[in-house]
Amino acid sequence: MDRTVYLNGAWVAEGEAKVSIFDRGFLFADAIYEVTAVIQGKLVDYPGHVARLKRSLGALGIAMPVAEEVLLELHKQIARRNGVEDGLIYLQISRGVQDRDFVFPETMEPTFVMFTQKKKVLDNPKWKTGLSVKTVAEGRWSDRQIKTVQLLYSSLRKTEANREGYDDVLFVENGHITEASSANFHIVTQEGVLVTRDLSNALLHGITRGSILHLAREAELVVEERAFTPQEAKSASEAFVTSATSFVTPVVRLDGEKIGTGETGPVSGKLLEIYIREQLAAGIPVAS
Ligand code: PMP
Repeated sequence: MDRTVYLNGAWVAEGEAKVSIFDRGFLFADAIYEVTAVIQGKLVDYPGHVARLKRSLGALGIAMPVAEEVLLELHKQIARRNGVEDGLIYLQISRGVQDRDFVFPETMEPTFVMFTQKKKVLDNPKWKTGLSVKTVAEGRWSDRQIKTVQLLYSSLRKTEANREGYDDVLFVENGHITEASSANFHIVTQEGVLVTRDLSNALLHGITRGSILHLAREAELVVEERAFTPQEAKSASEAFVTSATSFVTPVVRLDGEKIGTGETGPVSGKLLEIYIREQLAAGIPVAS
């Protein structure tokens, strides 16, 4: 294959076209795309694709990287340069390149790529035979136990919350908290019971969560793994999140209301201390 592709304003041989590993499309699925068919040298339904492209970009707050006239010209040119009479034009625009962070700045330089694929669109054998299909559960995206890079929703909500002055969000589903944008969420009741969401496809099975629960049980805390509501969290004596790099971090306010005293609490403080002590003792040295 020796196609010419479009990359951020330049025509490039396909083998030379490189996108950074720090691109948010790669790290967060923070990107949109369109596919337009070409039949007998004609762009199919082009205005509809441009309209949807603008809607998608608008919804994500990504600026249109080129003027509409330029976009049309690019579609024509890429088809001509690659001799595509029948096939498709794929375009993708990501928010751009940034050191990995769920929170992104207001303005970024989008990454814009286009490529073609030749395909006999008008010569589809299935038009004669038809398709055979099966049903599957609608799960786009409800498999949160998988640590995928499909992080766009989390990133959007966390960025929005940051701009409103919050540190993070807690996702609520059917009236119950699942977890934070990139951490598991736990509460300690007024009776001193550590309550955390039970494991299911509704949340990521945090490694830190598992270790902290183990340490909590060793420290003879009562642990309950079950769903709980934001109301229960607000009346807890303390709350905290766990994750690989935040360890145990207290949560002191929820939707503007204090949790417990509104100060960091003793249970999360103790668990943080035990966890760090244990990992410093048992962690694998990198220097060997
Ligand atoms: N939930 C989500 C959605 C996460 O992205 C993460 C990790 N960043 C966690 C929980 C915590 O998991 P771990 O303790 O393995 O870092």
